[in-house]
Amino acid sequence: MTGSEDGLEDKGETENEGDGANGNEASRSEADRIDVPESHPRYESLLTRHRIEHGVEAGITSKQGLIAQGRGEAFDYLLGEETIPSADAAERAAAAQLLLADHPVLSVNGNVAALVPDELVELAAVVDAALEVNLFNRTDERMEAIADHLRAHGAEDVKGLAADARIPGLEHERGKVDADGIYEADVVLVPLEDGDRAAALGEMDKVEIVIDLNPASRSPRVATIPIVDNVIRAVPTITAHARELADADTDTLERIVDEFDADEALAAAEERIRNGEF
Ligand code: ATP
Repeated sequence: MTGSEDGLEDKGETENEGDGANGNEASRSEADRIDVPESHPRYESLLTRHRIEHGVEAGITSKQGLIAQGRGEAFDYLLGEETIPSADAAERAAAAQLLLADHPVLSVNGNVAALVPDELVELAAVVDAALEVNLFNRTDERMEAIADHLRAHGAEDVKGLAADARIPGLEHERGKVDADGIYEADVVLVPLEDGDRAAALGEMDKVEIVIDLNPASRSPRVATIPIVDNVIRAVPTITAHARELADADTDTLERIVDEFDADEALAAAEERIRNGEF
């Protein structure tokens, strides 16, 4: 684990952060403004890169986040840049698990804030979850920048700034969480999480849903529900499943969760990466 996957290392890019409520539309459209037609075969990949680049310029994502993105892209390429069936099953189990939760929290870092802010806010609303900014290398500036960014995209309550509790077993800054957020959560969605912290959250007996394109990374391996998919596809797909399951009874939701097999899902992703067609 390099400790860079949330890509939030340096303070250097924080000065011009903050889309601010009034800058929301302009900022998002700027983040999405690329000189490539939607019909271009690499459109989604190029748009993703542009969002990350814009995230760096806005002080939301760090330069380390660019590296994490590059690594993710390589795995996505090998997966065929699509949601494979085992990932879809994981996304459905994640939706059921979030609907079953008493206190679900969606953890947000610099990469996911840049890539899927609207989609995270929507998922939080559909499953009634809290959003908590949670950075590997925490700085006040970046915490504020990401919280502002989420609010600009419609989030009403953004946790993470109080930092009045600690994840046991992690050193001071990395372990900071909100007492009424991740600390208290029974189910946590952690996209692109650091392996140490994923393990430490697991030690707290939380049900952990991890989104990560690398099935060999430690975080999906310690997750209750590993989702090997691009966060850009995974978050809206979880939301779609959650909408569809909104009226399902507890037995049905529990059955969906029970039938999901994490080891099988990881093996299926590895199989696609090793033997998929180019
Ligand atoms: P390891 O645990 O193997 O040391 P790491 O987690 O430290 O790796 P980083 O490059 O720091 O590696 O983290 C980036 C992780 O996030 C990688 O596993 C990468 O596949 C994943 N990732 C990057 N972008 C995305 C994305 N858009 N969607 C899902 N996962 C992504």
